[in-house]
Amino acid sequence: MKTSIIAVGTELLFGQTVNTNAAFLSDKLNHMGFDVMYHFVVGDNPARLKDKLAEAFSDTDLVILTGGLGPTQDDLTKEMVAEYMGRDMYLDEAVMQQLSEFFEKRGRKMAENNVKQAYLPEGCTPFYNASGTAPGFALSADGKTAICLPGPPREMKWLWENGVKDYLEQFMDKKMFYRVIRTIGIGESDLETILMPVIDGQSDPTVATYAKEGECTLRVASQRDTIDEAKEAVREMTERINDLAGDFIYSYDDEDLKEVVVRILKEKGLTITSAESCTGGMFASAITDVAGASEVLSSAYVTYSNESKIKELDVPAELIDRFGVVSSQVAEAMAEGARARSGADIAVAVTGYAGPEADPGHEAGEAYIGYATADRSGYHEVMTSRNNRKWNRNYILLRMLRTVYLLIR
Ligand code: ATP
Repeated sequence: MKTSIIAVGTELLFGQTVNTNAAFLSDKLNHMGFDVMYHFVVGDNPARLKDKLAEAFSDTDLVILTGGLGPTQDDLTKEMVAEYMGRDMYLDEAVMQQLSEFFEKRGRKMAENNVKQAYLPEGCTPFYNASGTAPGFALSADGKTAICLPGPPREMKWLWENGVKDYLEQFMDKKMFYRVIRTIGIGESDLETILMPVIDGQSDPTVATYAKEGECTLRVASQRDTIDEAKEAVREMTERINDLAGDFIYSYDDEDLKEVVVRILKEKGLTITSAESCTGGMFASAITDVAGASEVLSSAYVTYSNESKIKELDVPAELIDRFGVVSSQVAEAMAEGARARSGADIAVAVTGYAGPEADPGHEAGEAYIGYATADRSGYHEVMTSRNNRKWNRNYILLRMLRTVYLLIR
């Protein structure tokens, strides 16, 4: 079903409030199988709101509005939608009751203008709001439906989960199933090229690629008559994708790489330690973000200076002199030292230039990731060639996680 979103509020046009409601709704609607065609933002101005309503309904059948449902004079969304659909307003006793209780519970007196919130368009489906005072509602006429929701994101989300989502089921003649597959180690265009045989000319399931900082995500979605058919279509497509790009896939269920790493370490009963230079502890921090990290992370070293690499990780000074501190040899020695000192099953280490500066003959974003296990050690080279320190550090962190993932998968 073709859908538009209209966010109402002058503060959105001033840039004081970011239109997160539209992003939230778009994401949810898209996942349910609605085609979101337009986002509009309009100030608290009745004539312009009416214009946008007409524009939205000229090309889409479902219009979701947020904002402007409050008690004040400039909150006009409800009235404009009712007028557009040719409906009068009525006083909804249930909302009135709820409002009285809301204020009573808080020991506050209900202001005169709050009564305005209890008026709804005739023939609407109300969505009662237990997280605030303004109810939402859906109103249909001539095959078109408007849904009005309050502006505060917390209330809007509450109503979405407690009413709107279920209400929208009636418009879905097909059932939607999707899966988010996450990859690392390949850029979006290369991934698309590899997957061309399954993407090209494909209408269902659809396969869409999205690039995210340093990784690439695939969304495989199918809309069929039954949910089982949709699931089966996604399963078949996932198998084909796996045949073509399996080496780069680390999750079929939209998990973060750090979550996958911790999960596998746990499943295999392995412990890990890290020795970090340019990432300054980001790896250890990422692992400890995941619940249950204490089972797998034995210790973590942040060895920024040459001296600390020598003193705390037993990296031979001669190695640093000979190959430079940012080198594969030092990365590997850091990992071996960390593993020996900590007694962990696996050690991962990193030395590199986070940027924007690098020593002569080197570039920002050059890094070496060393690893050591009971039976092998080695390194991976990273070359991001970016001057953005934050981006480089995040990218290097992802590559450290990938190094560990490749060792344990
Ligand atoms: P209230 O009952 O609080 O008056 P309302 O439905 O009238 O609610 P608004 O007055 O338009 O909503 O907005 C209330 C607050 O919600 C705004 O100050 C803003 O912080 C937030 N808000 C409004 N619209 C959006 C939006 N599209 N995205 C994110 N936040 C929003």
